[in-house]
Amino acid sequence: MCPISNANDHNLNIGFRLTSKNRYSVSKLYPLIGGKLFKDFNKLISNIEDLDILIYSFMTMQRDNVLEEINKIIQIKKEKELEKPILIAGGPHPSGNPKDAINMGFDYVIVGEGEITLPKLINKLKKEKIEERIIIGERVKNLDEYNEIYPMTPIEITRGCPFNCRFCQTPQIFGKEVRHRSIENIVKLVKNMGDLRFITPNAFCYGSKDGLKPNIEKLERLLRELSKVKGRLFFGTFPSEVRPEFIKKETIELVVEYCDNKYLHFGAQSGSDEMLRYIRRGHTVDDVLNAIDLCVEYGLIPKVDFIFGFPNENEHHRKESIELIKYIIKKNGKVHAHYFMPLPGTYFENSSPTPLDKETLKILGKLAQKGLISGSWGYQYMKNVNP
Ligand code: SF4
Repeated sequence: MCPISNANDHNLNIGFRLTSKNRYSVSKLYPLIGGKLFKDFNKLISNIEDLDILIYSFMTMQRDNVLEEINKIIQIKKEKELEKPILIAGGPHPSGNPKDAINMGFDYVIVGEGEITLPKLINKLKKEKIEERIIIGERVKNLDEYNEIYPMTPIEITRGCPFNCRFCQTPQIFGKEVRHRSIENIVKLVKNMGDLRFITPNAFCYGSKDGLKPNIEKLERLLRELSKVKGRLFFGTFPSEVRPEFIKKETIELVVEYCDNKYLHFGAQSGSDEMLRYIRRGHTVDDVLNAIDLCVEYGLIPKVDFIFGFPNENEHHRKESIELIKYIIKKNGKVHAHYFMPLPGTYFENSSPTPLDKETLKILGKLAQKGLISGSWGYQYMKNVNP
């Protein structure tokens, strides 16, 4: 049931800015609120006078594009002396740095989860102006209560992460306590999907009380039930991944038995134990090596994430990462590389990326040219060097 399904009965016109980068966030909120989805910014502009409320959700990478759009909207509002639309922001960037979102021109910012707080805010705005502009989103206790999901988007099965990687926004936005959607609810939601894909900080933590180690019984029941649903089943791969130390015989055997994956996607982030400790990853290089070998043993392709340029990273750390990358390539695995970006709300938010030495750039460049590594490390690096 839409919490404000009568919003339009009160002549409230709501718009969501939809992009390829925010569709998962919008897919959770739009069914609760209704309104219009604007994929095309020009179309949004031509409808601007009809809108009472316009909602944006965005990540730090999209901040500059969003700022450009918001400036245009504010300019139109000024020129035409419009009081509306009221601009509301949410998502990872505004949650990590709400003051920046206010300075960008948003009227209100929701920090954290939006399912409960956004409908409440809209209902209040129907009646009155609200003084408080930065609003802390109420946490959803039971994901099963949020069943209205935009069609064909992956289903969020777990929210929150007990790990505390220093570069990551997830525990800051969703908290450290894990909340799982029930198996019955997941099975009901995926009934009409083609490929079954999921959103979770760590697919192998499904069903685990504290998210710190796998709950094999719950995982098996989930995958067994999902495997009965028509459609291909992908677990521990796009758009989510697993932690390397959760890759064990017991978990990987479930993927082999019930799923259609060719890949298993996990984050190493660094090939240096010293760096892994510093970024508080909570696993070792040996965990990564073990995960790679298990994937190969069970006929799955390991797809491994790396981040270069962490604060305090030195040449030695990078050499160790390159060695690990070479090992993955030798095992016919895939590597996805990023360049460190300080994200608002994280431990590293005020840190700068460490510049890469020539040798690392040369090796990464050669591997990328040969198609042996992918990922946006080059673009992110150049953007940082020439902002
Ligand atoms: S990187 Fe993954 S494991 Fe680490 S805090 Fe973020 S979601 Fe959790």
